Amino acid sequence: MITFPSQTPRSAFSRFLRIGTVATSVMIFLACLVGFAYALWPAKDLGSYGSADAPVAITASQQKADARSLGSTYGNGQIPESQLREIAPGHSMTPQAAERFAAMKKALQRDGKQFKVNSAYRSLAEQEGLIKRYGLLSNGGTAAPVGESDHGLGLSVDLKLDGDALRWMSEHAGSFGFKNTVTGEPWHWTFVGQS
Ligand SMILES: [Zn+2]
Repeated sequence: MITFPSQTPRSAFSRFLRIGTVATSVMIFLACLVGFAYALWPAKDLGSYGSADAPVAITASQQKADARSLGSTYGNGQIPESQLREIAPGHSMTPQAAERFAAMKKALQRDGKQFKVNSAYRSLAEQEGLIKRYGLLSNGGTAAPVGESDHGLGLSVDLKLDGDALRWMSEHAGSFGFKNTVTGEPWHWTFVGQS
């Protein structure tokens, strides 16, 4: 009777070899999967501090360029709503200004100061409406000409502040990149970037 090699009882050594081969193949296959997954996994932005949670350091000049770029891309008063971020119901600013405003708002609230957002980004049409209501600055009014207001760049916010909150702003707003940029308008704060 002919016996084929496959029918002969396997020696312990050949079983060991077979199991070893299969186990090695499985391990190589798994290692490949892990390798591919690692290579294809979306990389975390580690920022300049090398940790995913650390804030990214941006220089003041970069901030100013970024802050003005939406206005120069779309034009004063013509920034689409989709490019802006809300800072209070019905009021928005450019993303960077909104982010710093949110941090400042938290600090204001933490220190128990009262304030309210009266106005932020304004479209050309809204600025025209204000000129009609309040008059042009050049005519003794309080509205900037169409296309010249920092509200149209999404960088300015008008705040209702009591004396206490105004003192807080004078002291701390600068560290959030906000500055009172119009003399005689203590409510008008513009994001100018941190220096
Ligand atoms: Zn204003």
